[in-house]
Amino acid sequence: MSGPEAGNALARLTGTLPSPRKASVRQVRDIDGVWLDEALVLWFTGPRSATGEDCAEIHCHGGRAVIAAIERALETCGLRRAEAGEFTRRAFLNGRIDLLEAEALGDMLSAETELQRAVLASTAQGHASRRVAEWRETVLSASAAVEQALDFADEDEEGTAPPSQWRDSIRAARGEIGAWLAVPSADRLREGLRIVLAGPPNSGKSSLFNAILDEAAAIVSPIAGTTRDAIERPIAIGGVPFLLVDTAGLRLEGAEEIERIGIARAEAELARADLVLWLGAEGAGPAGALEVASMVDLPDAPRKGAGALHVSSETGEGLPELLARMAQVGRERLPKPGQVAVSRRQRELLDQTHAAMGLSANEPDLLLAGESLRQARHALDAMLGNVATEDMLDALFGRFCIGK
Ligand code: GDP
Repeated sequence: MSGPEAGNALARLTGTLPSPRKASVRQVRDIDGVWLDEALVLWFTGPRSATGEDCAEIHCHGGRAVIAAIERALETCGLRRAEAGEFTRRAFLNGRIDLLEAEALGDMLSAETELQRAVLASTAQGHASRRVAEWRETVLSASAAVEQALDFADEDEEGTAPPSQWRDSIRAARGEIGAWLAVPSADRLREGLRIVLAGPPNSGKSSLFNAILDEAAAIVSPIAGTTRDAIERPIAIGGVPFLLVDTAGLRLEGAEEIERIGIARAEAELARADLVLWLGAEGAGPAGALEVASMVDLPDAPRKGAGALHVSSETGEGLPELLARMAQVGRERLPKPGQVAVSRRQRELLDQTHAAMGLSANEPDLLLAGESLRQARHALDAMLGNVATEDMLDALFGRFCIGK
């Protein structure tokens, strides 16, 4: 429970307010005094709480009916259920966390693989936010230096002009931003690396698709907001997230029209792939594809040259090597632990900052340089959420689950 009524509600259900930040055992009763449960309760006074508001927790026994009865009792105290992500949203609005941390937290809560968790953890902890705040400071100091230089020019004074080291600081910060932009995005990490199985009919795509699914760990919860059809499966191999795509499912025998649509979609899938596993004739696949020779348990199945993987979906031969190769490619192409993976939204803002910093650092006209610095600061503010719109916050926090 969070908000000004949290304390009243806790006191009405449990008799007295416990001392803050100490776990206490309490009998929980509804407002008619009917006993509901014995529970551990916690009381946090704002602003030193998760949301920044008064917060209360009831750790009751986990039965569905017990929880429902306690919820009903809380409703009679005038409380309502929190919306998805509302606790985190309030923490953001009350300045407990910034938008960068909130976004990383949202992604971390839905992380299913070790790589996702490890990369997002440092951003959720605020390491990335501190760096962004430093860049913002650099821009502010540069703006101040530009103002000073403009004043000096206005007054037409004798003596030495104010120093222009600000240009070097901006260039240095811009270099750091460039390094962040070079890291694959958090969205890529969330969705998994797209691996597409391709090859002519009967080359063994569906069989290999199923064999890989059997070997890999299935990722259970599809990510909200992404559409998945039957031929896409999120999986984890060695802690790395993938989206495995079988183009065979796009081809329906018989109906020519459907066949054509299927082929067009297969081509679209190939274009979107991060890695294509090519099961057709050697060299006939798309550029950069990983050559896979299938059905190697059959003596007359064609073999491929060095660098190709030889697999049998029937016997499982070669599958561990194929999975190891996929995990290796995944680790190379997805963000690594210790790197900051930014979302699409943040990437746009960083792009703007990077461009504006470049303009300001090289602009001889101080008025124009100052304007570029202002734009850079605005983008960094948006990144941290110092300026944020309701729509954007709805979209971000709507991704969270209830109670987060
Ligand atoms: P797709 O059209 O490319 O999806 O190919 P399928 O996976 O449907 O395979 C075509 C045929 O080859 C099916 O009859 C499969 O049972 C068979 N097949 C696929 N993989 C293997 C394999 O590794 N070994 C053997 N012996 N047969 C296979």
